[in-house]
Amino acid sequence: MKSEKLIVGNMKMNLSATEISEYLKKFQFDDPQDQVVICPSAVYIPYFLKQPYKVGIQNVFFRDKGAYTGEISVSQVASLGIEYVIVGHSERRIYFKESDQDINKKVISALKYGFTVILCIGETAEEKGLLKTARVLKRQLLNCLRNVDTHYFSKIIIAYEPVWAIGSDVTPTLMEIEETIQYIKGIVLQYFGHEDIRVMYGGSVNSKNIEELNQISNVSGFLVGGASIRAEEFLKIIEVTVKK
Ligand code: PEP
Repeated sequence: MKSEKLIVGNMKMNLSATEISEYLKKFQFDDPQDQVVICPSAVYIPYFLKQPYKVGIQNVFFRDKGAYTGEISVSQVASLGIEYVIVGHSERRIYFKESDQDINKKVISALKYGFTVILCIGETAEEKGLLKTARVLKRQLLNCLRNVDTHYFSKIIIAYEPVWAIGSDVTPTLMEIEETIQYIKGIVLQYFGHEDIRVMYGGSVNSKNIEELNQISNVSGFLVGGASIRAEEFLKIIEVTVKK
């Protein structure tokens, strides 16, 4: 039986134009195409638009247009017919100093333009060590979802990405992920009155651990970074999660 999990590939700032065209040749699969979202570097998005699977963008700016050199607006991305946007990735928070308040503006703006928003949250190694995970996730959720009308919540997917698990080949235990997802769902229900928000897991998902991670009962899919830039590896992950 088909599951409704979503698999999102965050290619980050990787691959040359030549490598992208090789990737496109290799990255071919049959249904269900609508459960797979690939987020290449923005400059390569046009190459992916004719593919049968979904395309997303790794980041957007919240303003519609204007003198913001180097930025890409939600309205521009929407005009290409793109449906998914990743917001609040930890690399944006850490390297580009994006605050919860900046992310909140992006969430609101992207929802207004009809996007499905993949909102990343997660604790750092230090915060985990200080037993602050619950507090950090709650703060990120409350700030990033502030003033978001509840009728939009079905278009929001929370990506739980412990920062220490990203690109590290280390993942939390299945029970830790399951409990954290339950906690996130509880916060969204308690503070926003929305039942059963979709929550994905991201952080060192690869073809070796996907069988195991896929056993998590309450996970709505996976956000895959490094493994998504290797077409064969990403296809294996898709095979396990969406084709069974
Ligand atoms: C990410 O950066 O969103 C991510 C999950 O990366 P990786 O899979 O490489 O840990």
